[in-house]
Amino acid sequence: MASERAIDCPTHLAVDEARRRIVELCAPRRLSAEDVPLDRALGRVLAADVVAQQAIPPFANSAMDGYALRGEDLPRDGEKRFRVNGVLLAGRRDQLYVDQGECVRITTGAPLPAGADTVVMKERVRVDGDKIVVGAGETSGSNVRPAGEDYAIGDVALSEGERITAARLGVLASCGRDPVSAYRQPRIALFVTGDELVPPGTPLGRGQIHDSNRYSLGALLRQSGIEPERSVHIRDDPAALRDALRDASETCDVVISSGGVSAGEADHFPRVVAELGKVHFWKVRMKPGMPFLCGEVGRAMVFALPGNPVSSFATFLMLVRPGLAMLQGAREADRSWRARLAEPIRKKHDRTEFLRARLQICGDGSLEVAALDRQGSGMLRGVAEADCLIVVPEAARELARGDVVDVVYLPGLC
Ligand code: AMP
Ligand code: MG
Repeated sequence: MASERAIDCPTHLAVDEARRRIVELCAPRRLSAEDVPLDRALGRVLAADVVAQQAIPPFANSAMDGYALRGEDLPRDGEKRFRVNGVLLAGRRDQLYVDQGECVRITTGAPLPAGADTVVMKERVRVDGDKIVVGAGETSGSNVRPAGEDYAIGDVALSEGERITAARLGVLASCGRDPVSAYRQPRIALFVTGDELVPPGTPLGRGQIHDSNRYSLGALLRQSGIEPERSVHIRDDPAALRDALRDASETCDVVISSGGVSAGEADHFPRVVAELGKVHFWKVRMKPGMPFLCGEVGRAMVFALPGNPVSSFATFLMLVRPGLAMLQGAREADRSWRARLAEPIRKKHDRTEFLRARLQICGDGSLEVAALDRQGSGMLRGVAEADCLIVVPEAARELARGDVVDVVYLPGLC
């Protein structure tokens, strides 16, 4: 049996302290840089600044389908006719010139012909044979996207430490970069422990449940941009756990496990980590998720999460994710949110509580948050229905309706 007393390590840390220690342990383990093809770079973290080597857009071009002309020729009042002396389509190489009283028919994205500085939308002109008629009210210089209006040559388009999102992927592509230099992804072994677990798709025998954490934690990792290298089911047997940990610690940067980390007689994790490596701390003053353990074996960081599905969610989000971000070289913290309580909250214990909750935007634009009914740490329904977690501080016992609380906004995180 894993006895808390038998393991010499800090215990019952506050959540912020636990997170601080994890960040401190992971920061020096930031992974090396590698070249990543652009179409595999989503979710990675840039290992170097990206400086625009070319202007974006590279040439002045039309923002509309219409007619390119000289702004100084536009009529101040009444109407004016312009002779259409050609067509410029996006991607064609034709070189046209616009002289006084002339125009060129142009499509969106086509380079502006020499001499022109203005595009009049086609909806605002009348065609009359080989001429167009333009009325007063058009503005000189309009509907033109100058070269470099988005990024000028030499602009730092993206910075080292920024995570590559869908939009940033577009910036990299526009800069003509492929591959990009990004930090290597951590190699992660995901362990699910428990003799009661069977995979979904298999009928349940007596005392068995379907393993849900493998899927939820795997998905949380993917949403942090990481594909777990392996995910394994381990029996509640110290020898099996020892072998699996030893094996994973030779090739992986991180082992993330669920279950077997409490003080029950089938909870072998703390003892085995202590035996093979080091336990940095065990147990965090949070609800759900108290039995969380952070340690290391060989070259691998070990994050042992409690098996209750909600506990493993909460500890992953609050503790593991910030550690992984450090390994990945990410410098942007998750955004923090605040909202008013729609209902009062009572709490009896002195741990930080993470309540499953839903946000609502009020008529005045402020955010209101209401805790859901089902808060059991084994109940996935609460997480499935929630869009945020309310953070109830350790010291709080009673919070009133209207009190402002921190919330962890889940979409995008899980
Ligand atoms: P443990 O942390 O091993 O004591 O497990 C706590 C609770 O979580 C028990 O009710 C387990 O059956 C349940 N549990 C453990 N692992 C999983 C899993 N992978 N999927 C779903 N439930 C689990
Ligand atoms: Mg167990």
